[in-house]
Amino acid sequence: MLDSLAIKKDFIFFLKEKLGFNDNEIYINQNIVLKNKDKTLIEKFLKQKEEGVPLDYILNSSKFYEYDFYVDSRVLIPRPETEILVDYINNHFLSPIKVLDAGTGSGCIGISIALKNPNFKVYGSDYSKDALDVAFINKKNLLVKNFLPIRANWLSCFSEDCFDLIVSNPPYISEGDSHLDELIHEPNIALVSKDSGLFHIKKIIKQSSKVLKNGGTLVIEHGHDQSEVVKEIFEKNYFSKIINIKDLQLIPRITIGTLER
Ligand code: GLN
Repeated sequence: MLDSLAIKKDFIFFLKEKLGFNDNEIYINQNIVLKNKDKTLIEKFLKQKEEGVPLDYILNSSKFYEYDFYVDSRVLIPRPETEILVDYINNHFLSPIKVLDAGTGSGCIGISIALKNPNFKVYGSDYSKDALDVAFINKKNLLVKNFLPIRANWLSCFSEDCFDLIVSNPPYISEGDSHLDELIHEPNIALVSKDSGLFHIKKIIKQSSKVLKNGGTLVIEHGHDQSEVVKEIFEKNYFSKIINIKDLQLIPRITIGTLER
């Protein structure tokens, strides 16, 4: 059953992380008698692996930035390019500010910013009640006082001139994109957007031009071929000083602009 190296590696990780086995028990003392509870968990692991369930969902844990986030199929698994976004913010904003993580999902962006900057007040909005439940689990697990999950349809419930910084990793994959075939276990609403993947990006940029304070900053993650069009949308909505940040493959994946109404 354990026919590929990747599955073996994941299985060993699972034995250690979930069942608490050590190297001696796994590699040397191979005649261990398994408890019934562990047997059931191992059978479940093998079944989930066969179905292609990502390891982070099986373990209910995802490492992001410096923290362990609880994840399940209600939220997207955090990605390395999003860590670059968080790192940028943590290195460029120092004085106390009010921040919104729009479409927070697991809360990984907002919570990583809040934990590194205890003097910030960070809100995490999501329309999905399921996702917000996960954000609350992470707020509790990671003991984050200055992060508040809020149910909202993007930025619609916030008043004008409300935030100094808005950050978002919205759904931006276009409907029918072949990349989605590999992401069947993750929630579609966190991945797919109409209008060639730009529907939510346009909405967030437009709403941000009202909800941000003048001089405030908008940071958006987007697809590998969207940086030019995202820049144009920023410009149309009174954003200037627009810059790009590249992902680990050196593709521009994050766009940043300053609101100058
Ligand atoms: N970066 C993710 C991927 O390509 C998609 C995340 C998103 O749509 N926000 O798998």
